Order: sequence, then structure tokens, then C-alpha cells
Amino acid sequence: GVRVRLLLNITTAAEAAEIEPLGADGVGLFRTEFAYMVRDGWPSEDELYESYREVAGLLDGRELHIRLVDFGAEKCPAYADIPLNRNPSLGLRGMRLLLQREDILWPQVRAIARLARERPVTMLLPMLDTLDTLSAAREHLCRAVGCQTPDQFPFRLGAMIEVPAAALLVDDILPHVDSLSIGLNDLTQYLLAADRDDEFVERYHDAMQPAVLRLLRHVVTAANAAGKPLTICGELAGDPKLTGLLLALGVRRLSVARSSYRGVVQAIRRLVVRALEGLGPEIATQSTAAAVRQLVAERLG
Ligand code: PEP
Ligand code: MG
Repeated sequence: GVRVRLLLNITTAAEAAEIEPLGADGVGLFRTEFAYMVRDGWPSEDELYESYREVAGLLDGRELHIRLVDFGAEKCPAYADIPLNRNPSLGLRGMRLLLQREDILWPQVRAIARLARERPVTMLLPMLDTLDTLSAAREHLCRAVGCQTPDQFPFRLGAMIEVPAAALLVDDILPHVDSLSIGLNDLTQYLLAADRDDEFVERYHDAMQPAVLRLLRHVVTAANAAGKPLTICGELAGDPKLTGLLLALGVRRLSVARSSYRGVVQAIRRLVVRALEGLGPEIATQSTAAAVRQLVAERLG
């Protein structure tokens, strides 16, 4: 009797074609960087619009969340002329970079706005950190689409919660956005100071760590109390070992890679709501990842 929305993470229109046959609820995270990586120069607003429209055309009205490009760190086209940072994950990336580069930001924003005048679209702001960045972003978006005030966007606005600072500030961020999307790969990486792609610290990049789960619970509880949709995306959202735990924390929307979809559907169907009751607060009081794992194994099997 509990409805869990399950969406897909995509990078290309071809992947969007899988949504309908799978019965997924839509695209929870369109990673738009790929379209820039396979070219020799910047795409125009028209080209971007056509590519987003192609995806929308495959969704039959289902949800569509398009992320503004998260350049910097591991994703960066060769022609971008973005300064190489000594420590890319902590360097200029995501929304901070876009605020300095109207030439990248505006065509994409305008392309998404065009689509949003035809059907509902959520624009996701990557790597949001502080309210200052959010306010600056809202002003930029407003100028880019020519609206009078930042409350008149044609699109819905979603904040990607991937930086711990933004997670802690969730109550301050929520009034300014329509939804939240937690990038659990990056949130775990930044909270635990463990590079998500570094094999030497792989075992430290662990979403079962109580620090991650307590922060997650803080964000989920705030979004639920505000009545705003919250989606967990990132590869960890597709790990069926985490599904019960995420639902126990109050999560009702997951966006996963195509390869994880069926496993997560099965994991959800195996769960009994009664087993989840009271488990969220109990998870949050554990002190070690081992204790969390044991609790989840005992209660959810
Ligand atoms: C994440 O960080 O979890 C996320 C969804 O974004 P990406 O994996 O594209 O950085
Ligand atoms: Mg991320």
C-alpha cells in the first residue's frame, strides 16, 4: 500500500526509450554532460532544446528532471577552457562554475525553459553549497529566461544536495526550491572525505556509515515535513542492500541506473511496511556501520 516512485538516471535519449517498457516513473536525473563531451565545441541553445525535446517525447508525460551541467572534477569537455584544479573535486565545479560562465549556463537554461513551456520539467542545480550560491543562481536563471522575479520560472527548480553544507542548511534551502535530489555518491564522498573513484579509499566511501545516514535522515525529514518531493539519485540509490534502509528513513523516490532497476523493484516488493516502522530513528542512533548492517539484516532480512 505504499507507493515508491522509481525513476531512471540517463545520459542519452536512447536510455530514455527504456522508461516506458520498464514502467518507470520517468527520468529522475538527466546527466546532461555527455552531450557536450562527444562534440568538438559548444552546442547551441537550439541543439540542446532539440535533444531535451527528444527525451521528453519518449516519456509520455512522465517526470523529467534535467540537471544543469556539472562540469569540473571528472566531467569536463576538452574545449571548455575550464582551469585545471589541483584538487578537482574541491575545485571550481557544478553551480559555482556555472555562475562564472554565462556562456555555458544561459543556452542550457534557455533550452530547458523552452521545453518547460511545453510540458513540466524540473531543472536541477548541481553541487549546491550555500544559500548565497542558490540566491545567485536564482537571479542568473531569472535574467537568462527574462522573468520579472525569480518566482516566475517556467520550470520547477530542484536543488541537488551533494555537499554536506547544503544538507545541513536544508531548512533554509527548501523555501526557495520545488524539490530536492540527493546525489548520494558525492554527499558520501564529501562527508567522509573519501574519493568516490579512488580504489585505495573505496571501503571508506560507505553510505552505511552513521554520519551519512544521520545527515540523510535530517534532509529527508525536512523535505517530507515541507511536503516537497525528495529523490535519492546516484549509483548508491540503486544498491538493493540499501533500499529497505532508505525507505525506513522516509525516502519514497529513487532514481537509479537502468542496470539497477529490476533489482530495486524486487527489493521494494519484498519489504513489509510494518518491518520499516520505527526503524528510521533506530538506524540514526547506531554508532558504527557494522551496527547499522546488523540492524538492517535482523529487521529486514
Ligand atoms: C551523485 O553525486 O550521487 C550524483 C547523482 O551525481 P553524479 O554521480 O553525476 O556526480
Ligand atoms: Mg554528483
